[in-house]
Amino acid sequence: MIKVTVWNEYAHEKESEKVASIYPRGIHNAIADFLRCDDIEVRTATLDDPECGLTEDVLNDTDVLIWWGHIRHGDVPDNVVNRVRKSVLKGMGLIVLHSGHHSKIFRALMGTSCNLSWREDGDLERIWTINPAHPIAKGIGRYFELDGVETYAEPFGIPEPDEVVFMGWYEGGELFRSGCTFHRENGRIFYFQPGHETFPIFYNENVQTIIRNAVRWAAPVLRIPELDCPNVQRVHNVNK
Ligand code: ZN
Repeated sequence: MIKVTVWNEYAHEKESEKVASIYPRGIHNAIADFLRCDDIEVRTATLDDPECGLTEDVLNDTDVLIWWGHIRHGDVPDNVVNRVRKSVLKGMGLIVLHSGHHSKIFRALMGTSCNLSWREDGDLERIWTINPAHPIAKGIGRYFELDGVETYAEPFGIPEPDEVVFMGWYEGGELFRSGCTFHRENGRIFYFQPGHETFPIFYNENVQTIIRNAVRWAAPVLRIPELDCPNVQRVHNVNK
């Protein structure tokens, strides 16, 4: 089983009737609902839980963490961010969705501004699969369309991704690297752009397939118990 924790700041759903009507049990539960299957076990955590629901025990028991945040990035305590960052370096997978591009954890792992340009007018987005052999693209066609999204536009202030799996094109003319992978020490990271709270993006079948594929791709291959820098003995003593 792959153990997934879906984290959501869980703010818009409590403050906006429109968002609550789309995600009545929160974005985290909408994601958890479609992820649960034979090989994926899911728990959820939110900002207002003690320790943001991301204690050492929870992280040690999480293979892949999914992150959705937007207006309360600044309320995530730095010690929690550091704990998550260390877990990724030790091998935990991380999937950052949509406005999570500006989360403390994504910026900490990227080391750059992660800035982009944006417009919220419900553009159609055509998402092109530009790396069809990538495991995250399995089952996705040449392209698919989302008929109402928040536009995110290049330049995207990220380091050069290890792989760009999807490119987004918007009817307003913009382009965006909508699905990118990164490796940080032992951990795998996938950033995926669709997912604005006022659009029912997480009910789209292609989006669900991509996030499910990303969970399987990001699951740890190797997980080390501690980040250490040991002084070691010679392997060979032949010449001594
Ligand atoms: Zn948004």
